[in-house]
Amino acid sequence: MRALLAVLGLALAIPAQAATETVGSLDGAPIIDRLDSGDLPAGLTQRFWFRAGASPVGQPWLVPVVVIKGAAPGPRLLLTAGIHGDELNGIAVLHRLAETIDPSRLAGTLVMVPGLNPPGLMQSSRGFTPDWTRSAANLNREMPGKEGGSAVADFAGRLWNRLLRPNADTAVDLHTQSRGTAYMMYVFASSPRTRRMAELVAPDIIKMDKGDKGTVENTLTDDGVPAITLELGRPESFDDVMIARAEAGLTNLMRELKMLPGKVNPPPASLFVANDIAAVRATRAGWARLLLPLGASVKKDQPLAEIRDSFGRLIETVASPVEGRINMIATDPRTDQGSSVARVVWWSTDPACQNGC
Ligand SMILES: [Zn+2]
Repeated sequence: MRALLAVLGLALAIPAQAATETVGSLDGAPIIDRLDSGDLPAGLTQRFWFRAGASPVGQPWLVPVVVIKGAAPGPRLLLTAGIHGDELNGIAVLHRLAETIDPSRLAGTLVMVPGLNPPGLMQSSRGFTPDWTRSAANLNREMPGKEGGSAVADFAGRLWNRLLRPNADTAVDLHTQSRGTAYMMYVFASSPRTRRMAELVAPDIIKMDKGDKGTVENTLTDDGVPAITLELGRPESFDDVMIARAEAGLTNLMRELKMLPGKVNPPPASLFVANDIAAVRATRAGWARLLLPLGASVKKDQPLAEIRDSFGRLIETVASPVEGRINMIATDPRTDQGSSVARVVWWSTDPACQNGC
């Protein structure tokens, strides 16, 4: 009996194996191979470099992570940004939250990754481009990845298995539109639960959408973690208005999740919810001039853009194929034959389209 108690006492004296794997440090920030926010001390903001495999020159890809672990228990909200390397507003949103959220007032844990795609960010590329000899993969179609697979599959697999999935009860993945185009503040959601999250973030437009295979949003949602994709305007810049709106919207979401004190604001009356989308395409190549601004309401067959040839002669007037709202415009007037000058979102009354057509 005494021997058994001694064994039990020894077992109790040994701390649980920490799931966070620290392998070194850089300028005071631990370098980790795995994060389990559960084993971090409460009431602290901590910064890490997550090692997500190696680049083609043998150096590690280091992904910045900020964990704000509240003094009180609560859910884990995962916020990610910069999976497309030219989409930057979300990074500034996470930087702001990292500076302003006081862990002593927070219940639960905020896990933030302000820059998921270092090679894309370095080259201002939407793709994952560690190596100029290969075509760039879309990291946001690679989840849950595969450790030991190709470079991008391995990178995605490490992110998914060791950082994103184990630290998320709810998630928001922050984007913008890509180079040459612009969005409004726009959220993709795929279920009643994620639609509610989207409403709390207070965008201009919500698009109910079945999504694409391999995105952070859809892979998490399919695995039981409600997630939305938040689009914040234009690429390759920090837009203070969008950044402030996203910060306010995410704060509102955290109030609903009981992570922060304060009253939950209802969705804005101007919010437009859509479940279908139509591309407005030029059939001729040339110089496009838009006739309506981003966010405008359009009627079916309403002219939306003029296409001119190299001499400035009008060669086509492009009209909207549906009635709805312009949620995306091309900001670059150079237009390929068949490419989109805008997209229009609308609501389909087909019952099968309730959560996206
Ligand atoms: Zn994106």
